[in-house]
Amino acid sequence: MAQLSDDCFAFGEALTPLDEALNALHERTEPIADMCDVPVSGAVGRILAEDIAATFNVPPHDNSAVDGYAVYYDDLDPKIETRLPVTGRAAAGHPLGRSTQRGEVIRIFTGAPMPMGDAGPDTVMMQEDCRVDGDHVVIAPGIKRGANRRTAGEDIRENEIVLHAGQVLRPQDIGVAASLGRTRLRVFEPLRVAVFSSGDELREPGNTLDPGAIFDANRFALAAALSQLGCAVTDLGIIRDDETVIRTALAEAAATHDLLVTSGGMSTGEEDHIKATVEALGSLHFWRLAIKPGRPVALGQIDTPRGPIPFAGLPGNPVAAIVTFLVIARPLILRLSGATDVAPISYRVRAGFDHRKKISRREFVRAKIVADTDGWPKAEKHGRSGAGVLSSLVGADGLVELPEDMTFLKAGSMVDFLPFTEVMP
Ligand code: AMP
Ligand code: MG
Repeated sequence: MAQLSDDCFAFGEALTPLDEALNALHERTEPIADMCDVPVSGAVGRILAEDIAATFNVPPHDNSAVDGYAVYYDDLDPKIETRLPVTGRAAAGHPLGRSTQRGEVIRIFTGAPMPMGDAGPDTVMMQEDCRVDGDHVVIAPGIKRGANRRTAGEDIRENEIVLHAGQVLRPQDIGVAASLGRTRLRVFEPLRVAVFSSGDELREPGNTLDPGAIFDANRFALAAALSQLGCAVTDLGIIRDDETVIRTALAEAAATHDLLVTSGGMSTGEEDHIKATVEALGSLHFWRLAIKPGRPVALGQIDTPRGPIPFAGLPGNPVAAIVTFLVIARPLILRLSGATDVAPISYRVRAGFDHRKKISRREFVRAKIVADTDGWPKAEKHGRSGAGVLSSLVGADGLVELPEDMTFLKAGSMVDFLPFTEVMP
């Protein structure tokens, strides 16, 4: 397993623009997940750990794109019908198996190799454009040379790199790997992530709530989001706010995981032992991101005999926990997991609301997409905006992302919209 350097999460105290924080994280971290070989059939969703180059052309041979007749273009009269004898048959998986010469026409079917490759009939007439006359075929004029013929390598050229290390394998990628004859692929092992919560008010769902208590929501949302990122998640539950309990739990988790994630209990001045314990076991740094919603995100490491193990402490407020997870923890986790393309795609949509905001911070507004009167997508502000209003994320389709330099958003202008389907489907 690769190791991060001791000070990779050391960071300044000033309010940091999100892009700067993301660049710093990218520069200071690297994939730490191990690699393994898996069958192609079980590789969907995994992160590829090797470049896949074609060792031959796909398709390997010139072949027919239609059911019809393979002809020598130069045998055809460009102005009037041409009548030629049909002398052979080639179907998919059943090549003609002999050479041909000028004047011959071969009955051919979709996917069948062109007889003699480059040197034989060069054009295929669609059967709909031909008339059969006994053992002859009558061909209408007007076809182009090379029509209806697929060339070897048209899909993938020999030596071309079609799949790249670091990409998350989708069904079409699996298909391409199979078309190259691959049976196994080198992928990254899932990042082993331990997730827990701490806070004296938190209770495990299923129990009764005593006065002042709430059910733990963040741990479930975070564990679900981590699973969607391909992590192997261990649920450490709610860790009691007791120094010895915390120290033992964190040290044990660090010994067998690649990353520890928690939420809450990280605000300065809080009566909380997590912060002190991580600092005692390694190091902890507060990244003050210039974003709303979002409190500081604590990033640190716990020293183990295997080297330092990263720790991410997200804000306790559920909306802030999820938003900071999406904007900072998600790219970090994908990076550690071996993925290269960690930035989600935002889409430009029309804003359906006015919005005043503070300069110098990026603001994420929960939004729903509706069709505007002219059919274009329009983002409507959704739900109440408090950082604790978790249910507002449920009805939202995603987040409108308002840039640092904006102070007022006017309805009707174009904004970036990050759909949840991009990051948390
Ligand atoms: P904290 O960051 O610990 O000061 O928590 C901020 C707010 O988030 C408080 O109202 C907490 O009760 C709440 N909170 C903290 N952790 C969780 C959690 N795991 N699930 C739901 N709410 C939480
Ligand atoms: Mg707390």
